[in-house]
Amino acid sequence: MAVLAYIESNKSKPKKNSYEIISYGRGLADKLSTELIVLSFNIDSVEDLSNYGPDKILNIKNNDLSNFNIQKYADVIAQACNSLSIDIIIIGGSADSKYLAPSLSVKTNSSYVSNVVELPSSLEPFTLKRSTYSNKAFSDITIKNEKKLIGIYNNSFGIVEKKSNPELISIDIIIPDSTLTTDSVEHGSGDISIADADIVVSAGRGLKGPENWNIIEDLAKTLGAATACSKPVSDMGWRPHSEHVGQTGKPVATNLYIAIGISGAIQHLAGVSSSKVKVVINTDPEAPFFKAADYGIIGDAFDVVPKLNEKLKVFKAGNN
Ligand SMILES: Cc1cc2nc3c(=O)[nH]c(=O)nc-3n(C[C@H](O)[C@H](O)[C@H](O)COP(=O)(O)OP(=O)(O)OC[C@H]3O[C@@H](n4cnc5c(N)ncnc54)[C@H](O)[C@@H]3O)c2cc1C
Repeated sequence: MAVLAYIESNKSKPKKNSYEIISYGRGLADKLSTELIVLSFNIDSVEDLSNYGPDKILNIKNNDLSNFNIQKYADVIAQACNSLSIDIIIIGGSADSKYLAPSLSVKTNSSYVSNVVELPSSLEPFTLKRSTYSNKAFSDITIKNEKKLIGIYNNSFGIVEKKSNPELISIDIIIPDSTLTTDSVEHGSGDISIADADIVVSAGRGLKGPENWNIIEDLAKTLGAATACSKPVSDMGWRPHSEHVGQTGKPVATNLYIAIGISGAIQHLAGVSSSKVKVVINTDPEAPFFKAADYGIIGDAFDVVPKLNEKLKVFKAGNN
């Protein structure tokens, strides 16, 4: 029996949440006194993965796995689990991983728990805490099945550095036929994706129109942040749908979320509230978002944001 941490990649590099997935896997493998194997597809260099404690790394290089394909990915991960006698699989909380999980659960006969926020509080019975009701509550779930599939909630466990000297392993795999093909991949705007960002600069209807987004993009550039928006903003076509965050959009669990001209409706907050630090800029002191904020600026975005950006640029220049 061993623990397998499956990590995703983007442009042949591990996605940001990989280090947290491996850290969680290491913590769990230690609790179970077993080994941790990291599985990835088509990563150029696996060197930095060894900073988080894997015992073995299986990096499968195969052109047939270069685009996400649920049938092929689930099948190949299940083959790896079979050959390596895996009882517990750890995956992340990305849209792709959540899409993959049901199929993987069937193929590996494992019981799936998503949105897990901690290592198991008990091994017998195997009990996990998960976030529920759009992060408004936690529930404890017991898995009775020997085979387990654990989906961890982004940014909940954190990254734990632990240097190791992993063995690079390989196995024989057969890539199955698939009834699905990816014809094209359209990337969202901006250099950094919302899922991979440490900082997200997000704006709402308070920005008045798409022509004003330059102040948001400039601030995001200074901070090395991804840009996001509220639902009406993407519905009106001011910004691409890939930037829509909230209950019906992408979830955001970053270290810093800056909300500019966003009222803080319950459906918006549901998707962003697990970000560690939330900063709100809004003209209305009664805007609901201030109740959920760690820092708030009551002011006009067109005045505050350029000034904030200039101050940050000066601060950055002084710290380089
Ligand atoms: C089923 C359902 C699902 C939904 N899912 C989502 C979702 O996933 N994500 C989401 O975002 N919404 C979602 N919504 C919509 C949500 O209810 C709100 O309508 C939406 O979040 C409001 O967007 P907003 O804050 O940009 O706009 P508004 O509510 O219009 O707020 C604009 C804010 O900007 C401020 N403002 C105005 N001018 C300035 C200025 N110059 N400087 C600074 N501040 C200024 C105002 O004071 C106000 O607080 C959903 C709604 C439903 C019914």
